Amino acid sequence: MLQDRIKITDNYNRPIEYMRLAVTDRCNLRCFYCMPEEGIKYLPKKALLTYEEMERLVRVTSEMGVTKVRITGGEPFVRKGLIEFLERIRANTAIEKINITTNGVLTQQYIPQLKALGITDINLSIDTLDRDRFFKITRRDELPKVLDTLHNMLDEGFRVKINAVVMEGKNTEDIYELAKFTEQHPVEVRFIEEMPFNGEGNHYPVLNWNFKKILEELQQHFPAINKLPTEKAATAIKYQIPGHAGNVGIIAAFSRTFCGTCNRIRLTAQGTLKTCLYDSGVLDLREILRSGADDEVLKTALVGAFKSRAKDGFEAEKNRPQENKVSESMSTIGG
Ligand code: SAM
Ligand code: SF4
Repeated sequence: MLQDRIKITDNYNRPIEYMRLAVTDRCNLRCFYCMPEEGIKYLPKKALLTYEEMERLVRVTSEMGVTKVRITGGEPFVRKGLIEFLERIRANTAIEKINITTNGVLTQQYIPQLKALGITDINLSIDTLDRDRFFKITRRDELPKVLDTLHNMLDEGFRVKINAVVMEGKNTEDIYELAKFTEQHPVEVRFIEEMPFNGEGNHYPVLNWNFKKILEELQQHFPAINKLPTEKAATAIKYQIPGHAGNVGIIAAFSRTFCGTCNRIRLTAQGTLKTCLYDSGVLDLREILRSGADDEVLKTALVGAFKSRAKDGFEAEKNRPQENKVSESMSTIGG
């Protein structure tokens, strides 16, 4: 029962309720903001957590207060056996909500199974509605397939959020186009500040297209746009354009305006715990699991990590070892 469950908090009294789980570091796209054109060096298979190990970590963290898990990657649907894994965490853990973030290329065939699993919320990454720009950004010509997936999901009643990373010189004209898309479609389009997690490091000396500039751009096109109330522990500030079926949001992922209420942890595909996106990993859970530790040992290690969490993303970044500057791919971290 949820009310009997422990509610674990960190050293700043923020509850830990939400885990983002990267089930793979592999991907079938090569998004400009996520990895270089030639891709990243994938981890050897045995370095990745097995589904059994992931299931155990989901079960243990759910016993500690995590109620929601987001399946991400890499591209989750490139890992074989994903649906069976989701069935197992549904059946064997106390997790209440399973959400997914996907690029939508391989997703459509699984929609009936996702629905049968009671999954209702899916984030789809679409940075542009223009096929040429999509190709330039992702280095793959998959927009038609992704849009089919989107429409199929909407027809099937999923709540869909579109993630669009805003990149100077690449897709800023799409801010208008994507916001306009919400006129007829009941989706939330979330504009995300570009972060330097791309396998290379900073793309720009200064991030011009920060949350303020994205909002100004929206206000210029839609002067009547208005702010909606902010949900608990939300990363997106939401806005409504009057008359639109959907809404828009802005995620200040680089400016880090939302750390004060952050309730999330991350588990990378190789089993490293991150208590902040900007830290370089605070606990090697794979090693603990593979050493034969029982659940109590695991929980003690997790509590230790939760209770020494960085105050915010700036502190987490500062605490990184000198040689370990932010530059790893989001595909390895689990975005
Ligand atoms: N492959 C799936 C996808 O693209 O939806 C899931 C993994 S992806 C790493 C998760 C999210 O991270 C995507 O919405 C993507 O746009 C976002 N992302 C990746 N690299 C980013 C970056 N450097 N800055 C901001 N967002 C990024
Ligand atoms: Fe792949 Fe997602 Fe990264 Fe794009 S953002 S390269 S789809 S993991």
